Amino acid sequence: MRPIKKSSKLAHVCYDIRGPVLDRAREMEEEGHRVIKLNIGNPAAFGFDAPDEILQDVIRNLSTASGYCDSKGLFAARKAIMHYTQEKAIANVRVDDIYVGNGVSELIMLATQALLENNDEVLIPSPDYPLWTAAVSLAGGVARHYICDEQSDWLPDLDDMRAKIGPNTRAIVIINPNNPTGALYPNELLLSIIEIARQYGLIIFADEIYDKILYDQATHTSIASLADDVLFVTFNGLSKSYRAAGFRSGWAVVSGGKVRAQDYITGLNMLASMRLCANVPSQFGIQTALGGYQSIYDLTMPTGRLKRQRDLAWKLLTDIPGVTCFKPSTALYLFPRLDPTHYPIEDDEQFALELLLEEKVLIVQGSGFNWAHTDHFRVVFLPNSDDLTEAIGRIARFLDRYRNT
Ligand code: PLP
Repeated sequence: MRPIKKSSKLAHVCYDIRGPVLDRAREMEEEGHRVIKLNIGNPAAFGFDAPDEILQDVIRNLSTASGYCDSKGLFAARKAIMHYTQEKAIANVRVDDIYVGNGVSELIMLATQALLENNDEVLIPSPDYPLWTAAVSLAGGVARHYICDEQSDWLPDLDDMRAKIGPNTRAIVIINPNNPTGALYPNELLLSIIEIARQYGLIIFADEIYDKILYDQATHTSIASLADDVLFVTFNGLSKSYRAAGFRSGWAVVSGGKVRAQDYITGLNMLASMRLCANVPSQFGIQTALGGYQSIYDLTMPTGRLKRQRDLAWKLLTDIPGVTCFKPSTALYLFPRLDPTHYPIEDDEQFALELLLEEKVLIVQGSGFNWAHTDHFRVVFLPNSDDLTEAIGRIARFLDRYRNT
């Protein structure tokens, strides 16, 4: 019989955060090993529970949540999201401009599928959250990676962004606050990106899922609040700030230059209808999430658990010879650099695998984030301080051997 093959549409689709190294870690766990996981930004798995008032809302409404809802989401949830866009100073958003999805992930797929012809190009940061590159490829498009510069606090290199624009470029993705680097973009930079989008008629896809996970008095500006002529699609959701990743609930907000985008919006509406609607029970938590007590700030304030863990992980990593790391003021990740003169890594997936096999610590290699070099990896600082200390101690031991062999 003929072998059953995957579609050629997957030829350029890659998502290494859940790739072969994770598969090996799972096998090791099945064999009875304890693996310390610094690989996935899933707060609830590390004792960062979703706020109880959100859970109670979902539970209370379960009995009325068995049917489909409007394709774009429950009215009350979208109204709450609309109010949130007002808090973030995004102008002229109506309930109808808001799409609730099964996580930001689904909406990224929807927004790219609705836009791209084969070989259309999208500017995506390098390093990136790799779903963006994967989604563009799956939609037939081509990801053109613009460099974020580690020497400049990982901010996008605008000359490189401009240089990557061609006749088929349709959109710019910005991930702000950023995964994996933790960079936070200043307003002047956001305005410059808007200017580029304006000049070339591009959409701005703004992934802002970490907009409330801010340390050291950092503040976040939604890029969509800075202009009303360029078309913005802004993404956010319950997974990170509200520690409810398993609810699979996110939203996309269309704002700015909507008038010339009516055809694209029709496409978005069609794709939203085709999947009927997003998970309904979790939508009952959105209003309280956005309007209720923001317990995320208890975690990010100077004595908060997340802030303390960021400081600890950063200190332990940068104490290792040949390891340097930008100290992020946002999100859940560190993206350290391994000096190639100390650590001449040829294949960083192999490096991650060896670390896993020898020290039972799971990280994600930098190339998994479409970073073109083999000198970075990402750690998640969600595990508690004891586990972080243990894990980074093991990384240090591994690197010491690596350097001396
Ligand atoms: N965007 C970024 C930048 C992320 O880091 C993640 C998850 O890690 C997502 C989107 C996916 O979010 P969701 O759980 O809402 O699908």
